[in-house]
Amino acid sequence: MADDADRAQVINDQFQADMLAQAQQNNSTGISNRFCENCEEPIPEGRRKAQKGCKLCVSCQQEQEQEQKELLSHWRTI
Ligand SMILES: [Zn+2]
Repeated sequence: MADDADRAQVINDQFQADMLAQAQQNNSTGISNRFCENCEEPIPEGRRKAQKGCKLCVSCQQEQEQEQKELLSHWRTI
């Protein structure tokens, strides 16, 4: 039982951290980075306009989303 409670707490903490990060993004100026924060590749103008406040290039963003999905699906299976 303690294990389940611990797990739930960890998941809850992670969701809160995600929500906080999202809120911070929404509160940002909406100005996109010219260069990716991760790999420092230039971010295309179209992407910067389409996704205001974006900080990552397409491939880094996809990588990040993939990691989040894997993390979520891992939680669902335990
Ligand atoms: Zn990148």
